[in-house]
Amino acid sequence: MTFKKSPANAAERLQAIKAVFLDVDGVMTDGGLFYGEQGESLKRFHVHDGQGVQSMRSQGLVVGIISGRSHSAVNRRAQELGINPVFQGISNKLQCLKDWAQEAQLKLSEIAFMGDDLADLPVLKAVGFAAGVPNAIAEVQLASHWIADKPGGQGAVRCLADLFAEHAQ
Ligand SMILES: [Mg+2]
Repeated sequence: MTFKKSPANAAERLQAIKAVFLDVDGVMTDGGLFYGEQGESLKRFHVHDGQGVQSMRSQGLVVGIISGRSHSAVNRRAQELGINPVFQGISNKLQCLKDWAQEAQLKLSEIAFMGDDLADLPVLKAVGFAAGVPNAIAEVQLASHWIADKPGGQGAVRCLADLFAEHAQ
């Protein structure tokens, strides 16, 4: 897979990455929110992304989630795939990531983040590898080092995993 946007040092940036954090809505899903009488009822994940997460984990990468919203289905899916840590209901994603990185003794340059919306922008500008999705808002696409071929919820995370498999180490 080629870099859709290719800063000269993109491959180098990828090789430094030790942890990958994902946004949920618009990245692991297509951004649709299923609502019933009790509020948000369902989330729809893509099976290809599941394989992608497993592939990244087998490459030795920590895979985590930072989401602004909160839903039990996210915990279920994360548990299935071995995604850990899972941070939900996070209003300041960059602070959340900084706190985790400090504890994990990782630099932000050793972390990749995949996002699609405004709340992801400060994180994308701070991390070592900023991954966008084609359905992201323009600001996110501009701030990203690379943009997946497939949209969120339709295999975007798998694209990222494939990129790591091709370029890391
Ligand atoms: Mg999002």
